[in-house]
Amino acid sequence: MLRCDIITIFPEFFREAFDYGIIRRARAAGLVDTKAHDLRRWTSDKHHVVDDRPFGGGEGMVLKPEPIFAGVQELTGYRSREEYSPQTRVVLLSPQGRVFTQQLAQDLSQNASQIVLICGRYEGVDERVGEALATDEISIGDYVLSGGEPAAVVLIDAVVRLLPGALGNATSTANESFSERGLDHPQYTRPTEFSGLTVPEVLLTGNHGEIARWRREAALQKTQRNRPDLLK
Ligand code: SAM
Repeated sequence: MLRCDIITIFPEFFREAFDYGIIRRARAAGLVDTKAHDLRRWTSDKHHVVDDRPFGGGEGMVLKPEPIFAGVQELTGYRSREEYSPQTRVVLLSPQGRVFTQQLAQDLSQNASQIVLICGRYEGVDERVGEALATDEISIGDYVLSGGEPAAVVLIDAVVRLLPGALGNATSTANESFSERGLDHPQYTRPTEFSGLTVPEVLLTGNHGEIARWRREAALQKTQRNRPDLLK
């Protein structure tokens, strides 16, 4: 069972986020457990303050380190990063992190038993969280979100569908985009003609050898067109 603990100032954001499709079924089958925790739970002051102004000046607010450290300590049961088991991954979601890929999703799905996800807000999170608490600083892409919550949903979705047993058909992830070098091949379904748009003839022939050849070529062309960087 993979345990995913999300630390956030908006736990309500996740109320239904994992209640659909593959992730819902994986939860029901006991493959994964997801819990969102309110960061304010680990504050000790009357007003449950989680942020403060940045040292050195500048716009906006920064999430303070103390409640985040306390939250991770409670959720993992470890007092410091040096003690974490190799299956414990503490992920700081940040546009400054390394970019999330299918390979990293594979790594997490195969090697983690607990993933703690720290969702930033405002101007971000005190740097000491990345320096001394997180095992991974991860960005879901080269753009800036207003908070880490959508990134947490993206990461959990990509990891959970790779857990053994999460997809009905074990081969379904093997030929997907990014699993080898390029993108998946194009898919068509009925009708064979729609608004003058037709399905490639070869797919209707039942000739598996020809179909496999066409798919390899079409996947390559699509990768060249949309993601030539994957072929380098
Ligand atoms: N000042 C920061 C910067 O320019 O690098 C941006 C902070 S952003 C507005 C607030 C929070 O959203 C971040 O702390 C992070 O948790 C989350 N976030 C924003 N973009 C993200 C991305 N591409 N991947 C993962 N998390 C992201």
